Amino acid sequence: MNVSLLVPFAHGERGMTDLLGGKGANLAEMTRLGLPVPPGFTLTTEACRRYLKDGHRPPGLDDQVRKALTDLERSTGRAFGEGDRPLLVSVRSGAKFSMPGMMETVLDVGLTDALVERMVLRQDPRFVWDCYRRLVEMYGRTVLGVPSTSIDAVRAGVLAEQGVSATAELDVAGLRSLVAAHRRALVATTGLDLPQDPWEQLTSSIDAVFSSWNSIRAQVYRRHEGISGDLGTAVTVMQMVYGNSGPHSGSGVCFSRNPATGDPEPYGDYLPEAQGEDVVSGSQATLSLAHMAGREPGAHHELLSHISTLEKHYRDLCDVEFTVQDGTLYVLQTRVGKRSPAAAFVIAADMAEEGLVSEDEALVRVGGRQLELLLHDTFEVPGGARPLMTGLPASPGAGVGSIVFDPHTAVARRAAGDDVVLVRTETSAEDLDGILASVAVVTARGGLASHAAVVARGFGRTCVTGVAGLVVDELAGQAVTAAGDVLRTGDVVSVDGTTGTVYAGSLAVRPGPVAGGLMTVEDASDPEGPGNGADQRVLAAVRRILQHADQRATVKVRTNAETADEAAAARAAGATGIGLCRTEHMLLGSRRALVENVILGIGAQDALARMEQLAVQEFTGLLRVMDGLPVVVRLLDPPLHEFLPDPEGLAVAVALLEGAGKPVSDVLRTRLDATRRWRESNPMLGLRGVRLLTVHPELVDVHVRALVTAAHQLDAAGGNPRPEIMVPLVSDVAELVSARSRIVEVAVATVLALGSDLPTPPVGVMIELPRAALCADDLATVAEFFSFGTNDLTQTTWGMSRDDAETGFLSTYLSDGILPKDPFTTLDPRGVGELIRIAVERGRRTRPDLELGACGEQAGDPDSIAFFVDCGLDYVSCSPPRVPVARLEVGRAAVLAEGTSLSDTR
Ligand code: PEP
Ligand code: MG
Repeated sequence: MNVSLLVPFAHGERGMTDLLGGKGANLAEMTRLGLPVPPGFTLTTEACRRYLKDGHRPPGLDDQVRKALTDLERSTGRAFGEGDRPLLVSVRSGAKFSMPGMMETVLDVGLTDALVERMVLRQDPRFVWDCYRRLVEMYGRTVLGVPSTSIDAVRAGVLAEQGVSATAELDVAGLRSLVAAHRRALVATTGLDLPQDPWEQLTSSIDAVFSSWNSIRAQVYRRHEGISGDLGTAVTVMQMVYGNSGPHSGSGVCFSRNPATGDPEPYGDYLPEAQGEDVVSGSQATLSLAHMAGREPGAHHELLSHISTLEKHYRDLCDVEFTVQDGTLYVLQTRVGKRSPAAAFVIAADMAEEGLVSEDEALVRVGGRQLELLLHDTFEVPGGARPLMTGLPASPGAGVGSIVFDPHTAVARRAAGDDVVLVRTETSAEDLDGILASVAVVTARGGLASHAAVVARGFGRTCVTGVAGLVVDELAGQAVTAAGDVLRTGDVVSVDGTTGTVYAGSLAVRPGPVAGGLMTVEDASDPEGPGNGADQRVLAAVRRILQHADQRATVKVRTNAETADEAAAARAAGATGIGLCRTEHMLLGSRRALVENVILGIGAQDALARMEQLAVQEFTGLLRVMDGLPVVVRLLDPPLHEFLPDPEGLAVAVALLEGAGKPVSDVLRTRLDATRRWRESNPMLGLRGVRLLTVHPELVDVHVRALVTAAHQLDAAGGNPRPEIMVPLVSDVAELVSARSRIVEVAVATVLALGSDLPTPPVGVMIELPRAALCADDLATVAEFFSFGTNDLTQTTWGMSRDDAETGFLSTYLSDGILPKDPFTTLDPRGVGELIRIAVERGRRTRPDLELGACGEQAGDPDSIAFFVDCGLDYVSCSPPRVPVARLEVGRAAVLAEGTSLSDTR
């Protein structure tokens, strides 16, 4: 098939973005709509692809360009390269997906020395020389490849010579000198001058724009945005109109609504006596649309009418670039406008309200990533803010406080009313109180699924982990960053958990517009939300869209929670139960010693009794908050290296005592011996989950008895508790059979002892190991439900430690583009996802009504949720702050999967 190489604006339309790029397709559409678009044509992406493949313009293209130019001459009444009002053209890139600033543009193409001499006889010489100056600068940069910095330096030299500060102040003689200086510099650096043949200017500009598709910055941008490198760019060639041609001329950009706030009024900038690049470069102060109305009332009126036409036509926020030439308006570009996260929600909800889009369309036009940004505080980062270090953005938010290096100090300083930031090499189970007392946590080690990250996310604490090069000396109370900054106790820092950057000093916090406000979902009509009026509008928009998401969702959202407070926050945010209660998280902080004593066999009976007592208390809180909803309690899965003391530390203590001639207690010796015995080289692959429960079955008893007891008490008090029990890190059905029989035995005994009418809780299994996924048919013979623990499943499928990978080689893989995404953040559909699909299929083959959930960190990741929905899971379970994000994404996924008549949803 012969694919077109060139399409005049009048022959295209908006659906042709593959061939014409976004810019070309929209210019064609506006031409069809009768908007005042200067005439022109588009060289297609096919022409670009062939140019890039063969190294020259495809045969026949030049003839088509000549023919299109002739048509342009006819329709404009001007000649290319001839006359005192010659036809000049702009040559611009325009790919299918917007790549702002990544590729090239050349304006005023076709102007030569000879034409300048003729034009000045009929037109304002300042205007003519200004056009020539622009051509020389852009041609030099784009076609001849002179760095912008060199061009800027030449310009600055001439401005200084002429005693002015901007080109707008140069007179004709000054502009002539500037053109001459640029051309001398071009010849000196490249050996080439601006060609004096207009055709050569045009074709070399086209070649340069085609080639800019493969510039380094364009390639980097594409990789970041996931845009294919095979697409190529289109090139639009358009008659020049001149915003710089006199006092009633100018250029501007205009949005159909405010892109920052979503306000329904058009918003724009106008710069008199300027061309478009002057507006977007930000080098000169622009006027508002209201001021433009005062200067150019006719053009302003027309502009508003066109932007409204475009918005109705595209049924979305549109922006236009426009030029006013001697009072006449021209529209040079339109596209669906970029917008802030807040504006995205407000505009989508308003357009649904206005009937411009359906509720489904409004829903798919926003995303969980945008919602995340609205849920958390951010910083106002002034120009002078000094980044101290950067790590992984483990838990979003903005925390300002003074540094402490140990959890005890954190608690004490918090009690004294200080805001503190806990800085640690890594966190362990013991640090919980310190984490809770801090506004933010920073760790040198640890990935996104590490202990610090998971705990901080659960409690909504700002957290940055894995700060490369950070050396923390907890004992000395200081840390040194990779850049050599020394941080001491009490130094104030600002921690940005959304970007992973830590700044020196105290930055102003900008509250997330819907932070907190979504904790009252039932009361959607409540006008008294938090924040100012603008924030309330955003909140109302988010609520409206979330309500629709809930209506469309096919998958429920539960939460991962261990405290009644977390559970209450999650339920208010719309969680429909607890999908994962990590019982070991109930034993953090000072309670950690209970786990240690049981495992090391020191005072184990007392420890077990205390553990059970605490568990009854905590489970009661969870079941009460989640009354009527399922609460999945996972039996103990403590990574031993986080829960047992460091044998080296104990050995030092013993040595110090011995050295000082003091007695060493039997308990200390026993602890040292036992800790050495239990020490593992690969603790994440060691005595965890069901393995620990098999070795220490008394740990099963404690939590089963506690859960059944808590449920019985609530039931007796008229509640509706729905407990479930889940067994972690199973790889073979025999492990599950053994664990389950113990669970059932204890549950039945407890029910009988209590005289309870309640059934014993259903028993399910976590699928966190590849073997468990592959043997899902066996597991389903015993398990009543599955929950995919994608943190461990990712770790074990990839063979990458969830604690270390991101601070080591994985960061290189990501920065080099070897892996496009971190699999611990966004589910890897090819490998881990395949195992999940296998497990779903095999599990349901055995037990068709098997309930399926996912509870690893990816289950709350906006980019992964559609995958879980597509697998047919019943629920995803995530930390409380992510519940609204997950609700939005499960609704979107359902709508997108239906693939109904959603029109353009870019
Ligand atoms: C998991 O592995 O995905 C999981 C939820 O369990 P944890 O993170 O506690 O190991
Ligand atoms: Mg796990």
